[in-house]
Amino acid sequence: MIRNAGRREKVTRMAFDEAKRFIPGGVNSPVRAFGSVGLTPVMAACAKGARLWDIDGNEYIDYIGSWGPLILGHAHPSVVEAVRKAAGTGTSFGLTTLTETGLARLICERVPSVEMVRMVNSGTEAVMSALRLARGYTGRPLVLKFEGGYHGHADDLLSRSGSGIATLGLPDSIGVPESVAAQTVTVPYNRLDEARHAFERFGERIAAVIVEPVAGNMGVVPPQPGFLEGLRSLTSRYGSLLVFDEVMTGFRVGFRGAQGLYGVTPDLTCFGKIIGGGLPVGAYGGRRDIMELVAPSGPIYQAGTLSGNPLAMAAGFMTLQLLAEPGVYDMLERRAARLEEGFARNAERAGVPLRVNRVGSMLCAYFTEREVVDFETVQSSDMQAFRPYYAKLLELGVLTPPTPFEAMFVSAAHAEDEIEATIRAQADALQTIQGG
Ligand code: PMP
Repeated sequence: MIRNAGRREKVTRMAFDEAKRFIPGGVNSPVRAFGSVGLTPVMAACAKGARLWDIDGNEYIDYIGSWGPLILGHAHPSVVEAVRKAAGTGTSFGLTTLTETGLARLICERVPSVEMVRMVNSGTEAVMSALRLARGYTGRPLVLKFEGGYHGHADDLLSRSGSGIATLGLPDSIGVPESVAAQTVTVPYNRLDEARHAFERFGERIAAVIVEPVAGNMGVVPPQPGFLEGLRSLTSRYGSLLVFDEVMTGFRVGFRGAQGLYGVTPDLTCFGKIIGGGLPVGAYGGRRDIMELVAPSGPIYQAGTLSGNPLAMAAGFMTLQLLAEPGVYDMLERRAARLEEGFARNAERAGVPLRVNRVGSMLCAYFTEREVVDFETVQSSDMQAFRPYYAKLLELGVLTPPTPFEAMFVSAAHAEDEIEATIRAQADALQTIQGG
């Protein structure tokens, strides 16, 4: 069924050596190097639907899905056609187009908290811009984020607390000035008491709380009941803005994103991934009175040569339209639930402690006995167990993120038999752990 020879030695090795000569680490984004599992990375040649082929000709059922954008699967014919058509009439104008208004309107119609939206080119840019806006709107310097939350690679967002509550961040990367990192307060995810404590200390200086409403960059960690609601009331009480980073969850966990799923309304929302249909994109939007502060209607500057790029807008527009068809999210839910159940049952049979967290079509399996609710419990996942398990999965033609701290994504293109084949492969991969 899956034509995977389990060999990525010849072509891939040579090609990756070549890549390393010209690109730092051979990759344009660190996790692609497969460093955490110590394997030669998969180098993609092409993909279609739920399948991906590497440059050695191995076939995989792909659950990376470009890290989230490809909710319809690879190279969906309608999306490809939309891009082709757009490309034929000009790849970029640096001028206003009808398509960008179309996509902006779709986003505003689906996500009621978003009254206006500005397109940018990546999730990183969306978050940077939203937080500049939050600081400009409130006139305050600090941002509160959560441990294990990822909001792109902007200077002030790489920091996390070194020693618990209310520690003003230290740089997590060389090159980030301490004065910049010190603008971020970091507290544990799902700990409303810790967030409250931070507000008691710094509340008058906090411009915004930024949160992934479902944490998707430490595997998948759902919000505990009351967590998002609590953040909503804290921010309101202190006059700070609540910013949902829905770069991953937007149009993924439901038609109206995580805010629709949990019924909590943020002031600003960041998007990316799905709204570009697989092309580079980001966007931030929210309350009209706040968004109107963005240049040229207001004094907060933010711009982009390729922002609202017609190819990305066309791919995003088509993707969001197809997601409006009846039953798409129900199907995603069923398929992902089946995968979750299959993984959990396999682990139980094999006697391997495994926790599977899932929200909609995002899921993650952790090798731990503990309930995974925050960054600390995420780190209890056994990396030693993960490595051979991962290598076996790959050999069997199942491509998942090469770390237990990233989400797997099920797409509408994952057919039932592909889900079942994945469950069978996972049962085999678990044997690597049993056998020690
Ligand atoms: N926020 C979240 C929640 C993300 O998952 C990501 C990317 N994984 C980003 C921001 C950054 O987006 P990008 O990689 O497009 O810059």
